[in-house]
Amino acid sequence: MRFKPQVHLPRCITKWFPAAIWRMPEENKTVYLTFDDGPIPGVTPWVLKLLREHHIKATFFVVGENVFRHPEIFEQMIEEGHAVGNHTYHHLQGLKSGNLTYYKDIEKANELIGSNLFRPPHGWLKQAQYHFLSQKYKIIMWDVISCDYNRNITKEEVLNNVTGFVRPGSIITFHDSLKAESHLRWALPRAIEFLKAEGYEFGKIEFPKTRRLYATPFIQRIRKIRNNLRQLRRWA
Ligand SMILES: [Zn+2]
Repeated sequence: MRFKPQVHLPRCITKWFPAAIWRMPEENKTVYLTFDDGPIPGVTPWVLKLLREHHIKATFFVVGENVFRHPEIFEQMIEEGHAVGNHTYHHLQGLKSGNLTYYKDIEKANELIGSNLFRPPHGWLKQAQYHFLSQKYKIIMWDVISCDYNRNITKEEVLNNVTGFVRPGSIITFHDSLKAESHLRWALPRAIEFLKAEGYEFGKIEFPKTRRLYATPFIQRIRKIRNNLRQLRRWA
């Protein structure tokens, strides 16, 4: 396998977050398409239509404020059988955010999203945030990033990032965002055709919801977060 850490992180880095999910089990030659930053008009409905045509279920890591603005697209995702995960309310970067601000933003998003999956914007977290969030969420990272948002690379490179690194169990990341749109519209259909021709199946990311926190009112959840935070500070 080629070495390209922007697309596929080496194991020494992924070990930094050992309980996070970087790749799914490889048994059934299944790959897991994931889309970050939606839902937005135009791009997300286009992705949904393409997935529908190919009978593919995927996982969308949605931004709370986009769900608030475009609930009908969010509902469509759910109705069409896709999995959804939390990607914060304001697309906050963990490294640049205070812990409590970060957790509150995630909880605010989960009022709308109601998922036990979380993907940190920009793919990175502070260790304390990682440990704390792992108590409630499965933190879903990636095995392959298409870099569709990067305007300094060509659409062909975006496609090659997928075709060159994919393997059974890969979690593949695209973005249903305006920034990624032109690369996405070119590369995604071709990536799907390639993966099908290679004999891959497509799956969505699901883990059983074992905790009852989802039914808890927001204020109680914040109280719990503050208590946990106090504990974390004690351990630190
Ligand atoms: Zn994002």
